[in-house]
Amino acid sequence: MSNVLVLVDHTDNPGGTVRKTTAELLTIARRLGEPVAVFIGSDVQAALPALGQYGATKVIALSNPELSQYLVAPKAEALQQVAAKVEPSAILISSNAEGKEIAARLAVKLDSGLITDAVDVQAGDGGPVTTQSVFAGNFTVQAKVTHGTPIITVKPNAATPEVAETSPEVEEFDVTISDAAKTARITDSKPREATGRPELTEAAIIVSGGRGTGGDFGPVEAFADSLGAAVGASRAAVDSGWYPHAYQVGQTGKTVSPQLYVAAGISGAIQHRAGMQTSKTIVAINKDPEAPIFELVDFGVVGDLHKVLPTATEEVTKR
Ligand code: FAD
Repeated sequence: MSNVLVLVDHTDNPGGTVRKTTAELLTIARRLGEPVAVFIGSDVQAALPALGQYGATKVIALSNPELSQYLVAPKAEALQQVAAKVEPSAILISSNAEGKEIAARLAVKLDSGLITDAVDVQAGDGGPVTTQSVFAGNFTVQAKVTHGTPIITVKPNAATPEVAETSPEVEEFDVTISDAAKTARITDSKPREATGRPELTEAAIIVSGGRGTGGDFGPVEAFADSLGAAVGASRAAVDSGWYPHAYQVGQTGKTVSPQLYVAAGISGAIQHRAGMQTSKTIVAINKDPEAPIFELVDFGVVGDLHKVLPTATEEVTKR
């Protein structure tokens, strides 16, 4: 069976955790061939249980410190060297800002086709077939790489992680980083203050608030916490200074695809939809029955979010 490379997405600190998106990538990789995880960082041992749990047959560990001292160029160069050795049939990378930049640079280096933001990947004749949601979610496209090694960035929640216990062997891999790749050095790196909530792009459930909150995100956060959800915000809420930009959902914010998206006090402008309309189930709470958000919801509540959300929180907390 052919090898499928999966770039491990994990928090940077020693003992750092493997992100849920990696479990999803490994699950997808198993449909296509033998999943081989590529771990860039200093503590591969901490990552091994999670990688083995989702079926990695082998872990290639790249611990050259230069890989984390610079921005993405060295990582693309390192993956190129791994690909030259492993000759994979596909390379899967998380669809976040860093992942997409690495994938693009790698595609140029390998002279390969690149597909970004896949929401599904299946095995097909002559290579993986991906599904993407394009033009602000108005079209669903199936695509296939026709040149070189398919490089695919996959959005969070594109697959449900399936456990397949393995005991992967670890292979240390020495990479050489060229001076040309060492052009942008990281001078400082601070993790964002922890909220205790799941990361927005990875969360299975998101509760977002908009201008309709009037600046009070308390009911949105309380409902999110009752469900173990992440909190999102519309641009109107962010521009008003009610919530940080890191939580903005939409065209100029994050693109999310959770199992459940709850939009509270959000009208449903096209730019907001662009970031959330591939969510599996969409619920809206809006006091205006004519609000455009109701055109795309699975369930809608016409009402004041300041009353609906606390009632819903109470109900969920009781169970
Ligand atoms: P509004 O459109 O003002 O809607 C507020 C809603 O709350 C209304 O439907 C109202 O009926 C309802 N409401 C009011 N009070 C209550 C209450 N008590 N209970 C229940 N409902 C209530 N927007 C984004 O979100 N993300 C983006 O990334 C983004 N990028 C953009 C990029 C560009 C280039 C441009 C031009 C715009 C972008 N926008 C983006 C802005 C977008 O066009 C909208 O202006 C924005 O999404 C509106 O946010 P909102 O729905 O919170 O506010």
